[in-house]
Amino acid sequence: MNKRIAVIGAALAAMACVVSAAQKQPPVVSSTLRDEPSGSDSNESSSKPNILFVMSDDHTSQAVGVYGSRLAKLNPTPTIDTIASEGVVMENAFCHNAICTPSRASIMTGQYSAINGCPTLNDPLPAERQYLSLEMKKAGYQTAIVGKWHLKARPSTFDYFKVLPGQGDYFDPVFFEKGVSAKIQKGQKKFGPDAVQMKGHSTDCIADSALAWLKDMRDPNQPFFLKLHFKAPHDYFEYAPRYESYLAGVEIPEPANMWDRKNNGSIATRGDNDELLPYIGTSVGRRNLRRNYAQDPRTPWADQIDHSLSDTEIKRQTYQLYMKAYLRCVKGVDDNLKRVIDYLKAEGLYDNTVIMYTGDQGFYLGEHDYIDKRWGYEEAMRMPFIVRYPKSVKAGTRTDAMVENVDFAPTMLDFAGVPTPDYMQGRSFKPIIESGVEPDSWKKAAYYHYQMHMAHHDNPAHIAIRTKRYKLIFFYGLPIEGKANATLPAWELYDM
Ligand code: CA
Repeated sequence: MNKRIAVIGAALAAMACVVSAAQKQPPVVSSTLRDEPSGSDSNESSSKPNILFVMSDDHTSQAVGVYGSRLAKLNPTPTIDTIASEGVVMENAFCHNAICTPSRASIMTGQYSAINGCPTLNDPLPAERQYLSLEMKKAGYQTAIVGKWHLKARPSTFDYFKVLPGQGDYFDPVFFEKGVSAKIQKGQKKFGPDAVQMKGHSTDCIADSALAWLKDMRDPNQPFFLKLHFKAPHDYFEYAPRYESYLAGVEIPEPANMWDRKNNGSIATRGDNDELLPYIGTSVGRRNLRRNYAQDPRTPWADQIDHSLSDTEIKRQTYQLYMKAYLRCVKGVDDNLKRVIDYLKAEGLYDNTVIMYTGDQGFYLGEHDYIDKRWGYEEAMRMPFIVRYPKSVKAGTRTDAMVENVDFAPTMLDFAGVPTPDYMQGRSFKPIIESGVEPDSWKKAAYYHYQMHMAHHDNPAHIAIRTKRYKLIFFYGLPIEGKANATLPAWELYDM
């Protein structure tokens, strides 16, 4: 986040326009179609590509090599980087709300939270609003989802699902699986009526389950649409034991702004004379008194922290432990993705499959002394987004076109030969992926709304709009349901 500058009237007007568009009434699902599909042979089901949509939880672009951050030289994602080098890297992909459930709902519906009914972590996405899988099925696809779903209602519109309950567990995870009739008790928790349990680390179990579906349940006479959703690297970053030595002797580079935070924030996020710094936004070190990674007993590194250290030293120590745990989870995802890619290659499916890789939102890796996500600031709002499909996407393409997660469903449907349904708010960026060229008519801004005021990680509710040049944020600081105190309102405008 760069220089803070004065709020201008034009930006205020733009924000008002976006807010008003998002507050229209939820539409009824309609068969009316808005845009024609951009592919020429898309009506022939035999020519439809398979679609593999891979999403990891909280995998941020700073921890994807191809995005070239300070961590790139550690090479945490060789498989993802290879896919990227053979396709397109979207440099300006943004989520509408940087938390799990709302982002996943926007991807499934092509709609912003105000329309799809999922503005918080507590909102279910019932079958009738699972639009992406419904449309893919209508288009002749065999559909499956494996891994973390986090939208409460079962993904029953998929031909097959095997999903974690809520966040799920890192080890010996329980899944809800379509067609299963069984109850399981794990510790104090009871699961069912469709529960199965696997042994091992969740990333391995999820990849195993996806491979099992590809091998044993996939119908070779139909194109497939597979959503493969890893739980990792969500907190608390419990990596598989085989990664214990990965990066063990390495000093992870620190972001300079973990120490120098002067160009970030306003009275909404810092208070007068920084009086709110101990209360707003979880921290690496002890800055946030209530929630930080140095003193949280739930972290896997809690027993390795030396609490006699100074604030500076403990922040430095915590950062190293936190980052190594996070990157070990990332490495587990990358290695398991390679297993899936190797299977596609062995079966001759690799080049006829549109492969997309993303994280459900960005994540703070110590920048500005923040952890977690939720902020409309860059590290949380930006999503990695990579597409490989050599039949129409040129290797080595990069574009800075602004795309939002509400655009993902229209884009996937476009690859499937389906025009964007009129109830979706997103637009297909398939033509941009394929040409590398952004048309003049393409959207100029991404719209953001975080609503869980001061919940969990102490972030005030805010709304934001991001163009290539500017980001305008309004911290309105009010709770949805009156469960938290209001905080000071303020505008922040950044020249990116
Ligand atoms: Ca997430």
